[in-house]
Amino acid sequence: MTTYLLNPSHVSFGIGVITPRWLYVLAAATPPAFGTPRLVDETLEAFDAAVIKAGDIVGIGIHTGNALRGYELGVAARAAGAYVVFGGIHATLFPEEAHTLGGAHAVVTGDGEHAWPEVLRDCASGAPRRQYDGGRIEGDTFLGGRWDLLPPGRYMWGSVQTVRGCPKHCSFCSVWRTDGQRPRQRPYQQVVEEIVELRRRGFRFIALADDNFYPVTLEDLRMAARRGDRTQLRRLEQLRSDRFALMEELAQLPDDTVFFTQITMEAAEDAEFLQFMKRAHIKGALVGVESVTKEGLKSIYKNFNESGESLVTRLRSFRENGIHVLGSFIFGLPGDNLDSFDATLKVAEAADLTFAQFVMLTPFPGTLDFAAWEKSLGEDPERIGGIPINRHWLIPQSQRPKIYTAHPTMTAEQIRVGTQQVWDDFYSLPRIWKRASVACVSLKGRLAFVLISKIYRQMYANTGIATDSARVSRSARWARLMARPCRRLFAGPPMPELQLP
Ligand code: SF4
Repeated sequence: MTTYLLNPSHVSFGIGVITPRWLYVLAAATPPAFGTPRLVDETLEAFDAAVIKAGDIVGIGIHTGNALRGYELGVAARAAGAYVVFGGIHATLFPEEAHTLGGAHAVVTGDGEHAWPEVLRDCASGAPRRQYDGGRIEGDTFLGGRWDLLPPGRYMWGSVQTVRGCPKHCSFCSVWRTDGQRPRQRPYQQVVEEIVELRRRGFRFIALADDNFYPVTLEDLRMAARRGDRTQLRRLEQLRSDRFALMEELAQLPDDTVFFTQITMEAAEDAEFLQFMKRAHIKGALVGVESVTKEGLKSIYKNFNESGESLVTRLRSFRENGIHVLGSFIFGLPGDNLDSFDATLKVAEAADLTFAQFVMLTPFPGTLDFAAWEKSLGEDPERIGGIPINRHWLIPQSQRPKIYTAHPTMTAEQIRVGTQQVWDDFYSLPRIWKRASVACVSLKGRLAFVLISKIYRQMYANTGIATDSARVSRSARWARLMARPCRRLFAGPPMPELQLP
């Protein structure tokens, strides 16, 4: 009997950017009696389900974007006589779908690592339950990954999680509803141990794969103090001081270590936090800017973001503290118009963003936007190939629309073309070179910057936005080709002797 853990993907690049952490965490949760699980990441290469045998146990983790491929694998595994178990955000939201379309024997909802041993035992005894509730486990019981199982030379970045949950409530995001709004912070000593292990293995670049690395803002503290809520204030202060303790430890790691994380823009007003981030080698952060206008931010419940000039000032303060920003923007918000594309590009440049991503508003399940959109479709929504569009993730990739919500002033095609154009402009060679000249001192560094920018653009823009399938496969081929030399730029020398700070 073999236990498989599968990370599905309809497109493979040969090299992965960030290690899919969940595979390695569930491997750590697998009791020794079940042997070492076989970890399969289809972002590296497609998996041949013909190797699955009767009696094997196949765990498949899905989010909305890869659910369809996950169901294909589940059906094939079940047909081969294996036990099929689904987990992940999408299975948490739609457990029945995994049963009806993915051949599931069992579905684990919520956090999977504590439920997984029980699921395995039940499968081994031939009696898996239909559903297991993994719940939301506390930070001090998060597991580290079995990094000894990493295939050598296949990933650019390691990944470690320091906190789950986000106190915000953005309407397009499902994180606060699935992972909860109470930050569940992992004890910093455990985080550091895992990071040191990855550094020993030669990972110089490590993603702190958190929902929000800055879970307590200065405003949260002010509000708790104003309300006279001492218990809440103490809780928030403890969370904050644990963040600082973590960053103190990270600061003692070798100087060439680089961390990247996700953070809200409010961190920019917290000078002390930014200085600690810098010392801790946190050199990059994804910041959800989303919209450059007040109306756009209001429409997605993200009023805590700045707009206009103060937005530029906020974003620049990350750079002034040595933190490169990957700004994330959404197009297709109700207040957007044909000028929004150019206006956004101008802000991205004025704010000195090192990287940027531009996505089209998509109603993802589990979000407030999805609930409102689904309701607006009525009883009999439009169908594509027989599939109602409120189940858009089940529509084959090539026929899937790029835009779902009717926009008051733009057609879907205008939004798609405008988005593609901003990607093309932001990642044009002269613009990349200009950014490279500011971000990197050496010629080698600048060339590496150009390569990384181009590959990022190919992987995330052309394979997601283009409707022309030839362009999509050309981009995937190009990214495949370039990913290998790119990985070498990120690798560091293994440091087996490295001690805990
Ligand atoms: S988009 Fe970011 S800040 Fe908003 S709820 Fe999601 S994780 Fe939190």
